[in-house]
Amino acid sequence: MTATRTPRIVIIGAGAVGADTAYTLYLRERAPDIVLVDIDDQRARGEALDMQHGQALAGGARVRAGNYADCAGAAIVIITAGAAQKPGQSREALLERNGEIIASIVAAAEQHMGPETVLLIATNPVDTLAQIAARHARRPTRRVIGSGTVLDSARLRWELGEKFGVDARHVHAHVIGEHGDSELVVWSHAHVAGAPLALPVLQREEIARATREGAYEVIRAKGHTSHAIALSLDRICAAILNDDHAVLTVSTDLDGAYGMSDLYLSVPCVVGRTGVERVIEMELDAAERAALAHSASVLRQRIDSIEPAAWPSDVTRDNDTIRTSL
Ligand code: NAD
Repeated sequence: MTATRTPRIVIIGAGAVGADTAYTLYLRERAPDIVLVDIDDQRARGEALDMQHGQALAGGARVRAGNYADCAGAAIVIITAGAAQKPGQSREALLERNGEIIASIVAAAEQHMGPETVLLIATNPVDTLAQIAARHARRPTRRVIGSGTVLDSARLRWELGEKFGVDARHVHAHVIGEHGDSELVVWSHAHVAGAPLALPVLQREEIARATREGAYEVIRAKGHTSHAIALSLDRICAAILNDDHAVLTVSTDLDGAYGMSDLYLSVPCVVGRTGVERVIEMELDAAERAALAHSASVLRQRIDSIEPAAWPSDVTRDNDTIRTSL
C-alpha cells in the first residue's frame, strides 16, 4: 500500500467536492496525511472529524483540518473552493467570482508550497481557472493542472459501457476540449479492444449529449455533483504520487500542441510525478479538428475577458520537456 510512502495532500475547499475527495483519498489511502482547508473553519473541522471518527474502521490514512501552512511539503494541493453551479446554471457563470477566489488561494498557498508541489484545480470553470492559477503560481505550468475532462471521459465510458454491455474500464474513449458545453467526443479513436464502436450518428449525438449534460442532470436531481469528480481527482493524484505516466485528459497549458499556445484545455496527457509530462497529439478527423478549434475559441474568449490579459513574464513554460507526440 502506498500510504506509508506518500506524503501530504492538501485540499482547499471542504464543500461537497472537497469533502468527497478527502473521503475518497482517505479510503484509498493515497497519502498518510490528508488536510482540509476552508474559509469556513468549522466546515473543514466537521468534515475531518466525521472521517476521523471512522479511523478505527478505515486504513492507515488520516484526515485533519488545517491551514495554508500545511501546503509546505505537500505533494499535491487540490483547489475545490468557490461557488458551485446552481440548477440550470452554466460553469461559465461562475468565472468572475471564482477567478478572484482562485487567484487569492494560489497567492496564499505559494507562501508555503515547495517547488515540487503539483497544483490541481477542480473549481469551475476549470480550464480558465487552471490558467488563472498558472498565471499566479510560481511554478512551471506542467505543475498546474486542471481536472479537465477526466470526469467527462469517465462519464462517456460509462455511457458506452452501458450501451455495449462492457465494463466501462475497458472502453477506450476520450472527451477533449473545454470541461463544459463546447467539449467534444473523439469518436474516430473510440474502441473496445481495438474494435471501433459502430454507432449511428444519432446515437453518437445522444451519447455525447448525455455525457456533456451529465452534470446538469445530477445537479437537478441532488443539488451538486461530488462522487465522480472525487474519483477523478483521486485518479489524477494516484498518477502523480505513483509516477504512473497515466494517460488522462487533464486540462493543461497547450504550448504549441494541436497548433495552440497559451491556452488551457483538455487533451490526453501523460501524467506522473512532475505533473503533465507530455501532451499526446491525437490524429483528429476534420470534424473533430473543427470542434476542438471551436472549443478553444470559447476558452480563448473567456480567458481574454479576464485581466491581466498577458501572462506575466515570469511564468515558466516547459518547452523542453513537453513533447507533442509519442
Ligand atoms: P460547495 O459550495 O459545497 O463548497 C465550496 C467550498 O469552498 C465551501 O466550503 C466554501 O466555504 C469554500 N470556499 C469559498 N471561498 C473560499 C476561499 N477563499 N478559501 C477557502 N475556501 C473557500 O461547492 P462544491 O459543490 O464543493 O463545488 C466546488 C467547486 O467545484 C465548484 O466551482 C464546482 O463547480 C466545482 N466542480 C468541479 C467539477 C469538475 O469536474 N471540475 C465537478 C464538480 C464540481
